[in-house]
Amino acid sequence: MTTTGLLLDHVTLSYPDGDGRLTAVDDVSLVVAPGTTTALLGPSGSGKSSLLAIAATLTLPDSGLVQVGPAVVTGAGATLGEPERAELRRRSIGIVFQQPKLLPSLTAHEQLVVTAHMLGGSLPDARERAAEMLARVGLERELGRRPHQLSGGQRQRVNIARALVGDPAVLLVDEPTSALDHERGTQIVDLLTELTRTTGAATLLVSHDESTLGSVDATVHIADGRLVEPARAVA
Ligand code: ADP
Ligand code: MG
Repeated sequence: MTTTGLLLDHVTLSYPDGDGRLTAVDDVSLVVAPGTTTALLGPSGSGKSSLLAIAATLTLPDSGLVQVGPAVVTGAGATLGEPERAELRRRSIGIVFQQPKLLPSLTAHEQLVVTAHMLGGSLPDARERAAEMLARVGLERELGRRPHQLSGGQRQRVNIARALVGDPAVLLVDEPTSALDHERGTQIVDLLTELTRTTGAATLLVSHDESTLGSVDATVHIADGRLVEPARAVA
């Protein structure tokens, strides 16, 4: 458990664009508290991946403050160097990509054992932690299966369990349901929000499918790099 979660304050990022610059993230401020899930919705090109890359400390913004768990990544006059950011990513950030990147020759259990063991600790501890995380995503009976012996939803569960095996302060999720039907997509979002609550991670979930997001704590919309209030029906 951490007390800080994810904090972005007045964050701006631009890319070179012809003679000028293209502002991909425009003065974004966002707080995700520990144990809560915020969904980030927006059309293609609106800045979702850029924002996620900043939260993942892979990209440094031009300006603004970024805090991940206990660490100020940039802002207030100081910026962590790449070795410190790499260590922060290893220790404090879990990432779930759109398509599960699992190693074809490893069982579900081994996928997590490798990650848990790399984070330190003994091999028996890593094996126990891996089995515990897979049970928490409902795969206690699939420990010995390889990716091709799992359904798409089960592979995404392995992916989620692996991202959480190191107990990260921040969990970043990029369109986890895009390869799944509505029902399975909703189940994955529900699982993420529940694990977020029980692990105390601060979760930022990029999605294009609002209909699967019933269980999230907050939804923010992004357009042209800016956070916008969602349009409301007039009563
Ligand atoms: P989304 O994930 O919502 O589709 P992105 O963050 O990928 O949006 O892109 C936001 C904007 O920044 C788009 O206009 C995109 O073309 C531009 N962009 C993204 N990455 C780069 C880059 N590496 N160099 C130049 N422009 C980029
Ligand atoms: Mg994107």
